[in-house]
Amino acid sequence: MKKRVAVLGSTGSIGTQALEVIQAQPQAFEVEVLTAHSNADLLIAQAIAFQPNVVVITKEELYDQVRDALAAHPIKVYAGMSAVNSVVQMDTVDIVLTAMVGYAGLQPTIKAIEAGKPIALANKETLVVAGQLITELAREKAVNIYPVDSEHSAIFQCLAGEFHNPIEKIILTASGGPFRGRDRAFLQTVTKAQALKHPNWEMGAKITIDSASLMNKGLEVIEAKWLFGLRNDQIEVVVHPQSIVHSLVQFEDGSLKAQMGLPDMKLPIQYALNYPNRLKADFPRFNFLNYPQLTFEQPDLETFRNLGLAFAAMEKGGNAPCVLNAANEVAVAAFLRDEVGFLEMSDLISDCLAKVAYIASPSLDDYVESDKEARRLALEHLQA
Ligand code: NDP
Ligand code: MG
Repeated sequence: MKKRVAVLGSTGSIGTQALEVIQAQPQAFEVEVLTAHSNADLLIAQAIAFQPNVVVITKEELYDQVRDALAAHPIKVYAGMSAVNSVVQMDTVDIVLTAMVGYAGLQPTIKAIEAGKPIALANKETLVVAGQLITELAREKAVNIYPVDSEHSAIFQCLAGEFHNPIEKIILTASGGPFRGRDRAFLQTVTKAQALKHPNWEMGAKITIDSASLMNKGLEVIEAKWLFGLRNDQIEVVVHPQSIVHSLVQFEDGSLKAQMGLPDMKLPIQYALNYPNRLKADFPRFNFLNYPQLTFEQPDLETFRNLGLAFAAMEKGGNAPCVLNAANEVAVAAFLRDEVGFLEMSDLISDCLAKVAYIASPSLDDYVESDKEARRLALEHLQA
């Protein structure tokens, strides 16, 4: 039986790589749903190539273009977020890959879990914003969430056969990004072009900036807490510039397991879609002789304040990580428009964390409101 996959965010970096995985494994997967936001041309080309049952363009003004281009094909075309929220619940969807960027992933992920669909989760922001709500809902609906993020996939792969064994701690590896070893004086002057050059990974713009500021690692710490049910003090970060060791788990007897390989997102995407079985694939093979040295160092929390802000938001709990995420999304978008400096992003996030009213046990509505309020304050900060 082929798995029928809904690819949310099919036009992005993860989305396009997921389609390559699906194309290479036609005996295992087929595309049931594709969704995109603004890239109508690529969505149309993907729809023609993969012949899904349904496509959704979330930017509603692009609907006519997509519908007309696909008129000759037996493909249903819908527009808007509400359409995404309903198509993830279709009987013909076996698994939902959440590869859209940012807060937009929250609602469709909830809808998919409510309908009992397994989730291959790339959209880490969902677990940062509402990790408790999402994991409780998944437990209630007996839905599995399979990590796509390479670090979390590494940990998940290390846990295979060990789910009954308590975890002592996990160690998330971070490449350190393009500005590893730099000081604040240097960061004061960096441009978006410099920040968009990641040493080891080709990714969407938002996560690439998050990687340069170490916010990505902060988001991943919170993502890991919820995915693996960990206490805050069980999560460590180590900088590993070669990005070969993708992350590690330490068990209660002291044994430390790591998962390794060349950086390539197709492996974790395929593992999440086809868990627990591995599929033969020609993903790049690692050769130790090309990497005589694998190195590890402490993250520099003084220079890269975002990682510390994320740890602090996790400690505070409640709606604090939701506020952190919203403020960061506004900050990154502003940085990408050259409206804010690299270091100012942390000032903006810290300001929002201080100002949004704290809610210890937020409901879904509270998260929606906290997100809105944080975005409003972030824009106010930018205009000040
Ligand atoms: P991209 O920016 O490359 O792609 C984002 C996708 O989301 C596109 O399909 C885009 O559509 C769609 N999208 C953008 N805005 C909205 C919106 N408001 N509503 C609905 N859909 C929207 O991002 P990535 O693929 O890099 O990242 C996707 C997710 O995966 C992120 O959460 C990221 O953190 C996570 N991730 C990514 C990794 C990577 O290697 N890239 C690694 C680990 C995690 P369109 O292009 O048509 O506008
Ligand atoms: Mg990652």
